Amino acid sequence: MSDYKLLIGGRLVDGAKTMEVINPATEEVLATCPRASEAQLDEAVAAAKKAFPAWAAKPIEERRALILKLADAIEAQAEDFARLLTQEQGKPLAEATAEIAYTQAFIRQLATHDLPVKVLEDNDRRRVEQRRRPLGVVGAIIPWNFPVLIVAFKLPLALLAGNTMVVKPAPTTPLTTLKLGELMAEIFPAGVVNVVTDQNDLGGRLSTHPDVAKISFTGSTETGRKVMASAASSIKRLTLELGGNDAAIVLGDVDPAKVAPGIFGGAFLNAGQVCLAIKRVYAHADIYDALCAELGRLAEEAIVDDGLKQGVQIGPLQNAAQYEKVKGFLADARANGTIVAGGVVEDRPGYFIRPTIVRDISDGAKLVDEEQFGPILPVIRYEDAEDALARANASDMGLGGSVWSTDRETARDLAGRMESGTVWINKHLDFGPNMPFGGAKQSGLGVEFAEEGLHEFTQIHVINEAK
Ligand code: NAD
Repeated sequence: MSDYKLLIGGRLVDGAKTMEVINPATEEVLATCPRASEAQLDEAVAAAKKAFPAWAAKPIEERRALILKLADAIEAQAEDFARLLTQEQGKPLAEATAEIAYTQAFIRQLATHDLPVKVLEDNDRRRVEQRRRPLGVVGAIIPWNFPVLIVAFKLPLALLAGNTMVVKPAPTTPLTTLKLGELMAEIFPAGVVNVVTDQNDLGGRLSTHPDVAKISFTGSTETGRKVMASAASSIKRLTLELGGNDAAIVLGDVDPAKVAPGIFGGAFLNAGQVCLAIKRVYAHADIYDALCAELGRLAEEAIVDDGLKQGVQIGPLQNAAQYEKVKGFLADARANGTIVAGGVVEDRPGYFIRPTIVRDISDGAKLVDEEQFGPILPVIRYEDAEDALARANASDMGLGGSVWSTDRETARDLAGRMESGTVWINKHLDFGPNMPFGGAKQSGLGVEFAEEGLHEFTQIHVINEAK
């Protein structure tokens, strides 16, 4: 038995089984949580399918009002959400509090969109209207780094467009999503939103399910590939937000002390477990030593501890598997570079690795070429900005990137040629619900947020009438 419940067909129910959720800062069991069976997943899809016609037929204003109620309900329990998020995910309480605030802001702003009919032609011969219809049941598959916010990336637009949903959180961070489910049970008609949990065993079933019209997936590129293959059987619509290997190109004209905090923050937020984090820094030879030293100083000063403690800046890695993976990157850093700061796996309970700055490393090393998704940052020396740009672009990934310079024109020119979905100048990791967000190359397919994101939850419907 568990205090947490699945949400299926408007009812809060136990799972067929239970599973334990670990607090990554202590490695102790935080909660026992329901685990859905295949039959429960099928029930959730059936409930969403049943709820679809009535939900789709509601005026958009009515759907909007209910979505906004969810934002109000989260706001009323923001402190509880933030605390639980820190406990299950590991991030410092200040970051968890910000994630909950962002969640409300995203829901509120995404809910403002409309789906007006577009008249393409109206003349003596014909009237042609372009409308947008909802797709049906949307499966939302969520990763463990931002378990609340990423639900808010998908749910408001999917529901506003008239779809119904089955939401599946990651196995190591299900609790905040189940808590959202409790709130949603009170707000939405039965079956409009369903929440099921798993142990990485139901995502495939959801993405092959014949009654699911679309999968909105956020997670690794490796799993994204599987989702894409699963979706082929019924030609499902797909939005894939996948991994990244964001490069920051730092030109020789910057003051290293000035840019270092922004680069450090862009790399180590959420212990580096951010799809859009800086994952490699290309620093010009003129400022290379000074920048490495500044980043090293910030890494040494960072307070790494249980996120519930006051003043903590960096929490643990989220789960044991990721902790082991990042330790592998650390071994690679030792073999292929020089550790300026950090490099320490803390001898204590919890999945703690101190923020680590690695210099004298180059392309070809695993830490540079692959996504570390953890608190280890390689800094690569370059002489020529064109060469840095070519190396930044020589990746299968293309999620974000940034250029740091006091010369705006050069920075804009380089930014314009970076092969990624978002490029920042003199900052990293700044996004909002009004800016379409998506990855280039193998970092994703389609976009989230903004009108473009809303349209991805719809099917174009043309009505062509003879006069
Ligand atoms: P993951 O791919 O292991 O898991 C993501 C989700 O997919 C989980 O809910 C998991 O249970 C589910 N899943 C597992 N196997 C599945 C299958 N066969 N079919 C369908 N779903 C399945 O990713 P993760 O480790 O939870 O998250 C880390 C990765 O996510 C990183 O690569 C990171 O860059 C990426 N990410 C991307 C974005 C973005 O917006 N681009 C945002 C956050 C994280």
